[in-house]
Amino acid sequence: MTDIHSYLKNYDGPPVRLMEVCGTHTAQISRCGIVSMLSPSIHMISGPGCPVCVTVTAYIDRLVKLCMEPENVVVSFGDMLRVKGSHKNLNDAKAEGGRVRMVYSPQDALKMAVADPKHTYIFAAVGFETTAPVYTMLLEEAEASGVKNLKILTSLKTMPPVIDWICENQGGVDGFLAPGHVSVITGSRAFAPLAEKYGIPFAVAGFEGEQILAAIYALVKKRGKGEVMNLYPSAVTEEGNVSAQRMVEKYFEPCDAAWRGMGTIPASGIILRGEYARYDAGSAGLNEDCGANANCRCAEVLTGAISPLECPLFGSCCNPQSPQGACMVSMEGSCYNYYVNTRKV
Ligand code: SF4
Repeated sequence: MTDIHSYLKNYDGPPVRLMEVCGTHTAQISRCGIVSMLSPSIHMISGPGCPVCVTVTAYIDRLVKLCMEPENVVVSFGDMLRVKGSHKNLNDAKAEGGRVRMVYSPQDALKMAVADPKHTYIFAAVGFETTAPVYTMLLEEAEASGVKNLKILTSLKTMPPVIDWICENQGGVDGFLAPGHVSVITGSRAFAPLAEKYGIPFAVAGFEGEQILAAIYALVKKRGKGEVMNLYPSAVTEEGNVSAQRMVEKYFEPCDAAWRGMGTIPASGIILRGEYARYDAGSAGLNEDCGANANCRCAEVLTGAISPLECPLFGSCCNPQSPQGACMVSMEGSCYNYYVNTRKV
């Protein structure tokens, strides 16, 4: 690795802009101080890799509305409880009498539904290709046990269309650190059409600091070449997890999806198929709208247009104790990671 370290630190070629599109990579790049190991000519940009961050305000608003209806209980992971909708987050709604429960696993929602048949339990199903198979397992278990009072409100998104959107609308990216977890499911081949279309390299990377550095090195060396490099072969194959893909196709179909900061991107999400509509708490028709704080610049942070440090609220009124936008709430959010690890670009 010494050669790689030395090359990256002393690189004096044309400036290179590389984007990571995985929240765990964002967190690790900050935690390991990767940016400090790079030449000033190599710029790392965070993209839309945090599923909580890219979820639109309208989705939070819908969860808030559902939890205030007396027949419902909304169930969610912890991060989602703190992201503000137009006026409030789920924690605020809970304080006002809404029924909200935090869990660590979607399967907990099923147990709650079984134990309390008088309420409908609605799980906030947010995520990318990585998480979708987990929800299919939940639905399988609900089907098998005949539970009727469990639904999901989905905001499930797929990674290639949003990378396409970034290349088409934002540009200026010379290579992508392809998301490791997503690639386990999709396979590395999911990124081949984009590499070819835009003539830029993709490196599927693991999550250790050394693995990330190796991927950055590969991307710099392959600049201008449209190819996909799988540098995480211990977990990622070319075709991905075919059984998980089949399970997702069984329950879900592609749909247009709204992304915070990017609007609606065609075929960039998945939604329950009509035959499983009985499990859907009303996921269709969510559009982007304004967040709670009009000065929050999450939209630009998520597309890599600005660094979190360029947001005037960063570190002043916006911090992890008092987040003004989704990117400061989630531990995978760019603003949160810049704040806790003082990553500089
Ligand atoms: Fe939004 Fe806070 Fe990030 Fe600014 S620092 S973009 S207000 S989350």
